[in-house]
Amino acid sequence: MTPVTSFEGKHAAVFGLGGSGFVTAQALAAGGARVSVWDDNEHAREKARAAGLRIENLAVADWRNFDSLVLSPGVPLTHPSPHWTVPKARQAGVEIIGDIELFCRERRQIAPASTFVAITGTNGKSTTTALAAHLFRSFGFPVEVGGNIGTPILALPPPAQERVHVVECSSFQIDLAPSLNPSAGVLLNVTPDHLDRHGTMENYAAIKARLVEKSDLAVIGIDDDISSAIADEVSKAGKRVIRISVTKTVVEDGITLDGTCLLRFAGGRSTPVADLAGIASLRGKHNGQNAAAAVAALGPLGLDLERVAKGLRSFPGLPHRLEEVGQKGKVLFVNDSKATNADAAEKALLSFDKVFWIIGGRAKEGGIEPLRPLFGKVVKAYLIGEASELFARTIGDSFPYECCGSLEAAVPAAARDAFASELKEPVVLLSPACASFDQFPDFEKRGDRFRELVKALLVNRKAG
Ligand code: ADP
Repeated sequence: MTPVTSFEGKHAAVFGLGGSGFVTAQALAAGGARVSVWDDNEHAREKARAAGLRIENLAVADWRNFDSLVLSPGVPLTHPSPHWTVPKARQAGVEIIGDIELFCRERRQIAPASTFVAITGTNGKSTTTALAAHLFRSFGFPVEVGGNIGTPILALPPPAQERVHVVECSSFQIDLAPSLNPSAGVLLNVTPDHLDRHGTMENYAAIKARLVEKSDLAVIGIDDDISSAIADEVSKAGKRVIRISVTKTVVEDGITLDGTCLLRFAGGRSTPVADLAGIASLRGKHNGQNAAAAVAALGPLGLDLERVAKGLRSFPGLPHRLEEVGQKGKVLFVNDSKATNADAAEKALLSFDKVFWIIGGRAKEGGIEPLRPLFGKVVKAYLIGEASELFARTIGDSFPYECCGSLEAAVPAAARDAFASELKEPVVLLSPACASFDQFPDFEKRGDRFRELVKALLVNRKAG
């Protein structure tokens, strides 16, 4: 844990006692702050009480007593409407912050020169966070990974000179971290998302931009117009910017993707950094963007090309994102359960050529219509869940499909066809382009079930 010593003697109100709120309250108390916690959920309050935290009903509290309101990132600050604690704090002149802000203040106080890489973007955050952490580790550094990817930031050991923190930040977390100043800030891309919680695209983009505005080194993807404009602004303000692109040539400092090769541009010259060909965990152009950003975040360490290449090659990847879960003969089985919308499934289809595609679940707006230009890659589809009828209509006679209903039926059907095909590199791909909630509690459970079914099928196939 990182005790928040910078709050010693202060009085913090903490609202929201989920995973990160609970840890935050404990970290504040451990640092010597007075902490009043509240959550609308009685069970969460009981747990906090049992852990020795002071419960105070913030709805009736005297807000003049508080120095700060610490909110969980799940609690709306602005949209669709501010949480009831927000006007109370504002009226009393109490600042509203989150756990990442507390970490930043603590770092400035106890280890301002420590390496702190903060990563955001609409897509690719977790992959880039895991990869950057893996690369720093491969250089022999003790690395702590957390934030939006899993472990709450204040549950990690405190910042220290030789310790590297790699932290994934959602826009909600950035919104609550006004002084966020990582040593390296990574902004991968900005495309419409979470507008229900941020109101307008302008607001969403402005929040994302904040992660790189105060960072010592700014790593910014420039393949979408919004991020590209942010890169220009940040560099105009005199910051060092490394631009990342997988679609354009970069003339200033930057890293691009040429085929499968990462190329570094600096001082008007380009030098090869590493070849991503054959690295299963980094398939696809989108992962080229993630890899380029993670390498750039290494700063000067990234110039040790041999170690960088070795680190990239040994990256295990994250579960449920183009995860190879089995191969038998020429047939490859890939779990991309994280692809809960068409955008994400598009990345999967772009990464393979002959796809036996398991799709379906609870459809998102637009369904799979946006994927029509990639229909040529699909050999056959296996439809599951609520979206089956809708998807069958979209597919029409573009390619054959089978309504399987469940994953249990779809996996053997897709495997049967892939094994029987004469194709060179058939892939059985679960990239559902749908939420999982009609049949599974979350996309992880869906992917785990797929992995289990594939493993069982391959074992039986061996036995047979
Ligand atoms: P996040 O943490 O931002 O949700 P992940 O690394 O978990 O991102 O990847 C989630 C999905 O987003 C992947 O399965 C892939 O389809 C897509 N994706 C990953 N990286 C990128 C990227 N750089 N650009 C666009 N899409 C991406």
